[in-house]
Amino acid sequence: MIIVMKPGSPSTEIERISKELRNWDITPEKTEGTHKVVIGLIGDTAEIDPRQIQNLSPFIEQVLRVKKPFKRASKEFRYGEPTDVVVPTPNGAVTFGQNYPLVVVAGPCSVENEEMIVETARRVKAAGAQFLRGGAYKPRTSPYAFQGHGESALLLLAKARSATGLGIITEVMDTADLEKVAEVADVVQIGARNMQNFSLLKKVGATGKPVLLKRGLSATIEDWLMSAEYILAAGNPNVILCERGIRTFDRQYTRNTLDISAIPVLRTLTHLPIMIDPSHATGFSEYVPTMAMASIAAGADSLMIEVHPNPAKALSDGPQSLTLEGFEQLMLELAPLGKFFGRWTQNNSATATLPKFAPRISSTAGV
Ligand code: PEP
Ligand code: MN
Repeated sequence: MIIVMKPGSPSTEIERISKELRNWDITPEKTEGTHKVVIGLIGDTAEIDPRQIQNLSPFIEQVLRVKKPFKRASKEFRYGEPTDVVVPTPNGAVTFGQNYPLVVVAGPCSVENEEMIVETARRVKAAGAQFLRGGAYKPRTSPYAFQGHGESALLLLAKARSATGLGIITEVMDTADLEKVAEVADVVQIGARNMQNFSLLKKVGATGKPVLLKRGLSATIEDWLMSAEYILAAGNPNVILCERGIRTFDRQYTRNTLDISAIPVLRTLTHLPIMIDPSHATGFSEYVPTMAMASIAAGADSLMIEVHPNPAKALSDGPQSLTLEGFEQLMLELAPLGKFFGRWTQNNSATATLPKFAPRISSTAGV
């Protein structure tokens, strides 16, 4: 249930109503919108008659029931007010949100060694990325495949962070590693395979660190928002949703199907920011630029692009990784589109002089 207050309601009145609700065993959560204050009610509201609440104050404009199974994640809960996830980084705060410029996140699937991660960080930063993403703990289908360098890779990410000032995004797979990961990460990633690891979601929710929640391989949009709800219910409002492609029957020409329609659908359902990962979605670097452009056109708030200095030699996900030059080229190509949609600022623009390639070639790795 939510309470919509009339514009200009005195804060003492909002406090009084909140106090009264706590006596009813309801937890009020206040959202201050541009024009109105909304109070979301958490607890057993099923038996409460909205008129009982309406009678609490003449400053209450409306009392509405949130009918969706996800409550805090629902658009209604904030009365349409978008959530802006503000992430402090050494280079300044970066905001993921629908009224902010596109946030570009780039980096290798796995952190392999110091040289490659620091070099990648420098180059993606110079090309306009705001975050470096690299895996220390890797969820692999095969137990015999490279599992990530673990703790030592976290230290390398910390080095790349101090060398460039980029924010760090890295995945946590196990609650036992959460503290170590959260020490280095500015945003903690929950991978597709862990989207419904509910004990992990609760723990990550309790840290308060911004969370990047990838969509499960075969998760419906509702499953995904229910997982976001776990993090929000644990007291952490800083959730970014990441669409990374859903299972498809075609295993030959594409790894997954990028559900671009998830962007407008989520916009009707939730206030949370949306990231698109065209790298895992397609599985082939040559399709990444087209899908990145489509994502901007469909209204994505952020992009995650896998980039590797030598994709042919990558320890994981080489075929879908852009080369450093491929990423630079992609950023040059995205700029006019980002500007057209009003989602591109100085922050996204290259700080180094990048080569202007004539044809659009991102990488031929693995093709
Ligand atoms: C990754 O981001 O490298 C990754 C393993 O992604 P996903 O969880 O989407 O498969
Ligand atoms: Mn990967």
